[in-house]
Amino acid sequence: MLKRDPIMKIVMKFGGTSVGDGKKIRHVAQLLKRYREEGNQIVVVTSALGGVTDRLLENARLASTKGKVSLVKEFKTELTNKHYKAVKDAIDDPSVAKEVLHILDLRIEELEKALIGICYLGELTNRSIDYISSYGERLVAPILSGAVRSLGLSSIEYTGGEAGIVTTSDYGNARPLEKTYELVSKRLGCRLESYILVVTGFIGENEDGIITTLGRSGSDFSASILGAALKADEIWLWKEVNGIMTTDPRIVPEAKTIPQISYAEAMELSYFGANVLHPRTIEPAMREHIPVRVKNTFDPEFPGTLIVSEKFQCEHVVKAVSLIKNVALINISGAEMAGAIGTVARLFTALAKAGVNIVMISQGSSESNLSFVVSESDVGPALKALHAEFDREIIKITSDKNISVVAVVGAGMAGTPGVAKRIFGALGNSMINIIMISQGSSQYNISFVVREDEGFAAVKTLHDEFKLYNGNRTEK
Ligand code: ADP
Ligand code: ASP
Ligand code: MG
Repeated sequence: MLKRDPIMKIVMKFGGTSVGDGKKIRHVAQLLKRYREEGNQIVVVTSALGGVTDRLLENARLASTKGKVSLVKEFKTELTNKHYKAVKDAIDDPSVAKEVLHILDLRIEELEKALIGICYLGELTNRSIDYISSYGERLVAPILSGAVRSLGLSSIEYTGGEAGIVTTSDYGNARPLEKTYELVSKRLGCRLESYILVVTGFIGENEDGIITTLGRSGSDFSASILGAALKADEIWLWKEVNGIMTTDPRIVPEAKTIPQISYAEAMELSYFGANVLHPRTIEPAMREHIPVRVKNTFDPEFPGTLIVSEKFQCEHVVKAVSLIKNVALINISGAEMAGAIGTVARLFTALAKAGVNIVMISQGSSESNLSFVVSESDVGPALKALHAEFDREIIKITSDKNISVVAVVGAGMAGTPGVAKRIFGALGNSMINIIMISQGSSQYNISFVVREDEGFAAVKTLHDEFKLYNGNRTEK
């Protein structure tokens, strides 16, 4: 059992696998009951049922390209069946179940209308993508809140916007506005005493009340925003893994849980592809110094990972290794670039205007060559923007989707000589070729590009080299 203060204000987020179906939602409700009965005040942030966000996005695209109302009807049936079954498996009290089914009917009808609208228009804007994808969470919140009520506790459900999350209008990647923090505290703060508050993760509203989303896996970020706004004692992110691990356990089954990690390290890991956390999760928690725990829904007694502000210097210089897939390398080269002041600035500006995010960047010392990594889905817009910006110069622009990025993270790396030598020595011994290297100036992270088919081998090699399977304990 965790040693905790008897009464805490906790924001808990449950991921898509944790609320994967009705039985799992029932399990989550029972967990909530237990923590509530210990005297804690609880806000719960929920994801969509596992896989539903993907299905919503697929069907929005289908509606815009095929325009077939019959497909919308089929999808409506699929969603209704799935969520009805979840209600049946999660909620015992028939009157609560009836209320919840009524809310689901209304929401699914709204969604159907929106999808049919897209069929007729043949157009799918970023704003409508956010609207459609918000339904995953908006269908689960009433079920989870109902499951909690069915266990005899009081609960209210909110959408992110209703809870007070007001965002920019960057659909698909919205950021909370400063006023969020006050609004959430005003709207939810006074209810915490009497209710378990269930809030949809992933979504907010812009200032005009239009639904926005915080990016895929955004419910981690929602939990952190709510936690900061409510000045929670802790933020708990419940997932299907035993916390943040030394690497993705799907790549290296011997990966071990990292018991404690600093905000800075967790941020480096989440920026660099350990898709265990949404990249911006840590920011709001950090501003209020709120500890974040990553816990396993299916093994609640396991302490998981605690993310805190101090740099916990374990003996290990390297704490974790992560692999970013679905990225591409873009190379721009030409004699004219050498010494041409402002080339990098033009490149960044052109890419920023096209909405392309740069994952990592490296410039050769001859200055005639610049390489950078972007998401695979950004390659098209990036190439278009670069060709437009550099149309008068004689430069060559190439792209390669056949790559992955590996990031090695650990606060202990800062100021410890020889880490890079060990990393690249071990990879050399395993005959893995490095295409590009970059070290963040924080020195908490060394990342490099390898061929896609060598990504797994690179991660395994480094996990072995730094003996991370020992669980951050014995090896220096
Ligand atoms: P959620 O349930 O909150 O959506 P995710 O599925 O996003 O949780 O995150 C857990 C997944 O992240 C796991 O399935 C795991 O394979 C992957 N993962 C990648 N890197 C790591 C890591 N370093 N530690 C733990 N999990 C990781
Ligand atoms: N449901 C959203 C997604 O699948 C958000 C989340 O799960 O955090 O990306
Ligand atoms: Mg996720």
